[in-house]
Order: sequence, then C-alpha cells, then structure tokens
Amino acid sequence: MSEEPVDASDFTQVRADMVLTFHKWSHPMFEAGITREVMAMAMYDMANDFEKFQQLANEETGLCFVERCKRVTESLHVIAKVVELIDNLPLRARVSALNMFNVLADQIGRLTLHGYTEEDEFSVIMREKAKSETYRWHLRFSDPACEPMQKTLTEYWEYLHFFLAGCSCYNCKWEYQLQNELK
Ligand SMILES: [Zn+2]
Repeated sequence: MSEEPVDASDFTQVRADMVLTFHKWSHPMFEAGITREVMAMAMYDMANDFEKFQQLANEETGLCFVERCKRVTESLHVIAKVVELIDNLPLRARVSALNMFNVLADQIGRLTLHGYTEEDEFSVIMREKAKSETYRWHLRFSDPACEPMQKTLTEYWEYLHFFLAGCSCYNCKWEYQLQNELK
C-alpha cells in the first residue's frame, strides 16, 4: 500500500474508472478479452485504493463512510479470489459471478464524499441504479444450480448492503428502507 495521501479528486476519478471497468467486465462479450489473473490483480489494486479512501472521511461523508470503504475493500479481495477460479465453475455459477461485477459497480459508484446532500450527481445516479439492480439480484437468490457460488455472493451482497444506526446519509436511509421492504 502506497503512503501517498489521497484527495477528493483522486476519489472521484478512481470511483468513475472502477465503475466503468466493472461494467465492461460484466458484459459477456468482454469475457475473452482479458485473463482472470489480470482482472484479479486490478481488483487487488482497487482494494488498496479503497483502503486509502478511508482517510477522506469527514463530517460531510456520512458516519458510515469508513465502514463502507472497509466493506468494499474486503469484498474486492474475496471476489478477486472468486475471479481467479471462475473458469473452474459451472456455466451458470460463472454467470452469477460475473453479475457480481454489476453489484460491485453500484456499490462503489454510490459511495460519496457528500452523504447528506445530492450534489454528487454520479453517486445519486448510481444509487438509483443500485435500487433496480438490487431487486434483480434479489430474485436470483433461490437458484439452486449456482450453489455454493451463490452462497458466497449472497453473503457479500448482504455485507455490502447495510445501514449504520445513527447515520442519516442518503445511502443509509435507502438501505434502511430497502431492508424493511425485503423483510
Ligand atoms: Zn450513512
């Protein structure tokens, strides 16, 4: 991990790049164009970036910001390991794993340094995308053909969707509503 300090513009740029990368990877046509090893290495780099982004937490980010960065970091490590093994999986499980890229893109995209206002348009758009992706993702839960891959991914899906009690940022407010809806 680099010791270099990070600033808000690094965050905005890296976040946009990651979202783009994951959207590209989730596209089946893209599959042949990149090795799993390269994908996994890129994800470990992203995880390092997110570890550093924790430094950017302040009174505008929302109380949950550090925890969100930590969970993204940890999930990137786990999903990178899944990616390394992805070609050993049955086809449907592989498709599930690739779908996880969309989920990660949404989760990364809706992270914001402005948790209490809607001035960060990119994040607001990604939160809306996360909503529709969430419902689609939730419909996949009961596919028995994809166990145990589904189990791992579901675990991380749930891990990335959380609200911090006492945080009133828009991401936490949405998660709170969502978890009530999905009950
Ligand atoms: Zn929050």
